[in-house]
This record gives sequence, structure tokens and C-alpha cells, in this order.
Amino acid sequence: MSTQAATEDLAAVIGLEVHVQLETDTKIFCGCSTDAADAEPNTHTCRRASDSPARSPSSNEGAVEAAVKLGKALHADIPERTTFHRKNYFYPDLPKGFQLTQYDAPICQNGELDVRVEDRRREIGITRAHLEEDPGSLQHVGGSIDTADYTKVDYNRAGTPLVEIVTEPDFRSPDETRAFLAKLEEVLEYLGIYDAERDGSLRVDANISMVPAGEVAGEIDETTLEAANRTEVKNISSHKGAEQALAYEVTRQRNAIQRGREVEQETRHWDESRGITVSMRSKEAEKDYRYFEEADLPPLEVADWKAKLEIPELPDARRERFGEEYGLSAEAASKLTSTKEVADFFEAIAEEYDPDLAATWVADNLLGELNYRDMAVTDLEGRFDEFTRLVALVAEDEITEKNAREVVLREMLDEGSAPDAVVEAEDLGKTGASEVQAAVEDAIDENPDAVADYENGDEGAINFLVGQVMQKTGGSADPGQVNGLLRDELDE
Ligand code: ADP
Ligand code: MG
Repeated sequence: MSTQAATEDLAAVIGLEVHVQLETDTKIFCGCSTDAADAEPNTHTCRRASDSPARSPSSNEGAVEAAVKLGKALHADIPERTTFHRKNYFYPDLPKGFQLTQYDAPICQNGELDVRVEDRRREIGITRAHLEEDPGSLQHVGGSIDTADYTKVDYNRAGTPLVEIVTEPDFRSPDETRAFLAKLEEVLEYLGIYDAERDGSLRVDANISMVPAGEVAGEIDETTLEAANRTEVKNISSHKGAEQALAYEVTRQRNAIQRGREVEQETRHWDESRGITVSMRSKEAEKDYRYFEEADLPPLEVADWKAKLEIPELPDARRERFGEEYGLSAEAASKLTSTKEVADFFEAIAEEYDPDLAATWVADNLLGELNYRDMAVTDLEGRFDEFTRLVALVAEDEITEKNAREVVLREMLDEGSAPDAVVEAEDLGKTGASEVQAAVEDAIDENPDAVADYENGDEGAINFLVGQVMQKTGGSADPGQVNGLLRDELDE
């Protein structure tokens, strides 16, 4: 970069490469199980997954299906046929010396994803998304990658299906990448091809360069992109990590340029515990990989799958529809569509009961109480019927809203109780109408002074009488209703 740049305003140019683990039972090119979370190291692997180039692989249909769905969600071009290549390199996590991946005919091309960052709407171009196998994993003992005493290798992960999503260099600030990753995860979850809870299921490499601000005002041109020295930051595993690592790089690169130094084109490692990026190695040029087509994997004809596979309504569309169809505020619609499960749950209730009641119960009461307990909707798996029953009890006026929220819901979450059992045990059933009416009449008969005060215009006296009725009914009457009944009697 010329010294002139040092005096100009600089702007960040960022592109992401996101590796997502696809949820399949078996690995992408062999029958080994992918469920290796609690397994002993090196027990879920075979020679095809780890070290042998010579055993005929075959592709996992589930992984291909997932990639086709993703392509549709990203409005990408899905070619008629797609091919696999060997990417040749040696690393201890890849003893066979090549990774099976896709090269010039990836399964998704030229897509996009819309992202909102505060009030800005950004359209992020997706260059490509391709299928590939994960290498094994390394565990550094006694330090991090650059300081460890030694390193252990586990091939349980080798051969796990990944899709690598490569974006255009369309991000202009670290916070945009955070919003993008959150949105991407939302879409992946809606498609049912991804498990956010799984360790390492989302891994990000972030490319960043600083260019003169004037160059990125409109369309950025190729020459500027190529001329800018960029770093690729690896080992990022969360939205927050991406934002922090990139913010660190913005400062580091800006400082270098302003001091008249060149930013080295290199690969850096995000050290999350120290909150810094460290230099790893200078970046390999693409030609080093000597890509060649995998002869054992015939081209995949994907045209049929593309025609047949359907994807569910995605979060943005659903958010908008919730607003229109149920009259929800933008905030409520957003909360209720944050995951497909919550959205499905809300809709099931809204169809049967009042949508406003359903929205209050799911968005405010249920999510609020879950949040307070550090729980997620996934913790309620298999219990949605119980929560629907709770809303039914309120909708049908069998218990008060307050008891439902403060007693039943809490016991359901804390003790795992069923709603009817709590109502019964705590005797929360609303008192029948005739019983309330009798209590109202008794209270009036027994408290002539309060009645006289009320008749003389003392509004406070009615509260005293409401209290008396509540006492007689053991607190199970509805105070608003009691107030109304008392006035009816007294104003006659
Ligand atoms: P390589 O093959 O060298 O990794 P690619 O062209 O595949 O390079 O791009 C990798 C990533 O780098 C993409 O996400 C792309 O958007 C991003 N990228 C390209 N040019 C720049 C740049 N000047 N600054 C930041 N990111 C960039
Ligand atoms: Mg690349």
C-alpha cells in the first residue's frame, strides 16, 4: 500500500468462509457415525474417513439434500450436475493427504442473504457453497497451537459432512458479520439441517483488508480488492468471536498502515482467551493444492432433487406474515419467529385460541421465564402439549391469568409438573359464578359501614369489600369481576 494511503481514511472490506456441519447420521463418504460427541477418540472412524485414498467412497444423500435446501434458501443457482475434487495437502489431521471437496462446480453458486444491522439493510452476496469432508481434530496439550507441548489427533470428526459457504467481500464492518452469522444460523435451523448446540458446528474464517474509504463508497472494483493485502483469520467459532476478531484486525491493520508499514498477506489465528489474532503462516496460493477430480465419485446429478425438494417458509417471510395475519408488533413477530419450533408452537396455539393471548403467552410469559432460567425452547422438547393445555386453562377461564403465570408456569418449568396437577395441588380452580355471587352478597350484608361509605361517595370502600370477597373465596375469584359484581349490587 502506498504511503499516500496512510493519510487517507480507511474502510474495512470483509468476506467470510463459513463451515457448517450438516446434521446427518453418518459421514459424507462412508458409513461411520457422526455422533461422536461423547465417544472415545478414534472409535468412530475407518480407513476411508481418515487415511486411505484407495477405498471407493460414495456420497451421503442426506448431505446432498441439505446442500440443495440451503441453495434454495440462499436463492443460489444449483447446477444440473456437481462434481467432487481432491484438494491435496498434508496436515496431521488429514493423513490420506487430500480432502474431498468441490472445486469448479460447487452445488450452490451466486446466492445472497439479506441481513439487518440496526436500521441498515444489507444484501450479502454468496459466491458459492460447496460440500466437503471435515478433517480430523487436533487437541493441543499444555498450550495453544503455537505454544503446546504436544498435540493429540482424533479422527472421529474426519469425514463429517460440511458445507462451506463463501461470501463476497460485501461486509463493511465487524458488526455486519455478526448479524449475518446470526441470520445464517436461523435459516439453517429452519431448514432442519443444522444443530447449533453441537460443538464446532459453525466455524468461521474471516478475510479482512483495509482500503481507502473512497474506494468502497459504491461498487468496489476487482483491482482494489486484489491490490489490498488481506489477512485470513481462522479458528473463529461464534458470532461474537467473529465480531471481536475482526474489530481487533481493523485496529491492527489501520495502525500498521498509518505507520507506513505494509499489512502482510497471511493467515492468522484468533486466540479467543487472549482476545488477539496471532500470525500463523503465510497464506498458501491456490495452485499449491493441485486440485483434481475425484475419479471414484461420479458427477452428482442434482437436477431432480432440485425440482423435488421443498423448503419451509423462512424466518423473514414468516415474520412478515405473522405481522399481517395475527396483527403482531414487529418486536413480537421477531421473537416468535426466532426459531422454527417457537414459531410452530405459537401458530398451533393461535389457530385454536385468541392470537393475542397466544402471543402474550409464548413471546412474553414462556420465553421470559425460560430466559430467566437460562433455558431454551429446546429444553421443552416433548412438552408442548402441556403448555398448550396451560394456555387453554387461561383461555377457558378456568384459572386466573396471574395464577397461570406465577404459579403453574413456574412449577411446570422448575419441577417439570403437568399443569392440571399444579392446579389441583394448589387448588387454583376458579370459584364458580354462583359461589362468587353468594360471597358478594354476604360481604354486603356483613359490612353495612363500608356500604354506607360507598354510597356517600367513598370509592376506597369498594376495595375493602373486594378484599372481603377475595377472602371468602380463598383468593380464587377474579378481583376485576368481583369489583363489577359489587357495583352491580350496590348501584341497584
Ligand atoms: P482464496 O481462494 O485466496 O481464499 P477467495 O477468492 O476464495 O480467495 O476469497 C476468499 C474470501 O476472501 C471470500 O470470502 C472473499 O469475499 C474474501 N475476499 C476477497 N478479497 C478480499 C479483500 N480484499 N478483503 C477482504 N476479503 C476479501
Ligand atoms: Mg478460499
